[in-house]
Amino acid sequence: MENNILSTQSKLPGTGTSIFSIMSKMAEDFNAVNLSQGFPDFDCPEELKLLVNYYMKNGNNQYAPMPGVPALRQMISNKIEKLYNRHYSPETEITITAGATQALFTAASAIIRSGDEAIIFEPAYDSYAPAVLANGGTPVFVPLAEPDFSYDWDKVKNAVNRKTRLIIINSPHNPTGYVISMSDILSLEEITRGTSIFVISDEVYEHIVFEGRHNSLAGSGELSKRTFIISSFGKTYHATGWKTGYCAAPEALMNEFRKFHQFVVFAVNTPVQLAYADFMKNEEHYMQLNEFYRKKRDLVLNNIKNSRFKFTGTKGTYFQLLDYSNISGMNDMDFSEYMTKEKGIAVIPLSPFYSKGNSKKLIRICFAKKDEVLTGAAKLLCNI
Ligand code: PMP
Ligand code: GLN
Repeated sequence: MENNILSTQSKLPGTGTSIFSIMSKMAEDFNAVNLSQGFPDFDCPEELKLLVNYYMKNGNNQYAPMPGVPALRQMISNKIEKLYNRHYSPETEITITAGATQALFTAASAIIRSGDEAIIFEPAYDSYAPAVLANGGTPVFVPLAEPDFSYDWDKVKNAVNRKTRLIIINSPHNPTGYVISMSDILSLEEITRGTSIFVISDEVYEHIVFEGRHNSLAGSGELSKRTFIISSFGKTYHATGWKTGYCAAPEALMNEFRKFHQFVVFAVNTPVQLAYADFMKNEEHYMQLNEFYRKKRDLVLNNIKNSRFKFTGTKGTYFQLLDYSNISGMNDMDFSEYMTKEKGIAVIPLSPFYSKGNSKKLIRICFAKKDEVLTGAAKLLCNI
């Protein structure tokens, strides 16, 4: 009886352990080259580490202000203004978060009420639907259009109704690499015009775009008014383990965001924020990131062009999709396990990015790895 009283009625019954944790553990257990979970196998810049060290040693070890270290918010405001031509007040419109994950969850908490619907494009990053569900909302999944995984705006129009409260955009897109176009932005403006729909724009790969430029939703006068822009220092500065990111949104939206932020984390790691504020003064690091990753993408693709995998070069992010339909009839979960255990290379299956699974023969690899690791991995891929 007592057990019944205490039994957890899960608020996220359909949610298991993330595929990223599962595949990274399998890679470790089977000593496989890990191209699964998205993180670099090289270190973040030495100067950045020295700066964190400096601030720690100099006693900057207590709580940061709740919205973040002012100097860092200022640097972010400058960067957004310079790159996307939109001013966000560092005082009232930018908040530093414990990674993009917390920013996504916090923005969803601030917006979603019980019974609201949120449009999520599939394949989708795994944290979006739980963030909606945990807040009493209903995810409405809209498929991206193959083969390039672009937006099908007619499908979006059909999915919008009076309950729609939120649309979650991710560009550059994990796992497909699709980069939102100006015409997509015009369609999103049109669909949301005159509605009370908010947008979360997950732009964590904003500095990893290989064709054209990143179109931030901050750049749209109309959309920026209803949008939470979210980014992550983890991707940009090769420091995913520091879990630092930020959200930028108009003041009224940010007020609501901060009501949750202050009770979810209150504030984020002080010496890391101070270090980023200094390090961001040099724009070179993020300005050359596109080229840095383009070389890695091309290295892998050139080395697997004679393999049996089919692919189209990714347009953004440090992920590449590979089609294995010429190789095996296995489903993607089994094929990924086989690759890891038998072929010594860990990859990510695509079906966990879909609410109802997926029968496509697609896997994702991460090329944020040292060149020699990529060359070795390419050899393994050519042997499959
Ligand atoms: N959004 C996307 C699309 C991602 O790929 C990731 C993972 N790296 C995140 C959000 C989470 O970023 P963070 O590690 O800063 O929480
Ligand atoms: N974003 C990373 C990926 O897509 C993983 C982050 C995580 O493990 N939660 O692989």
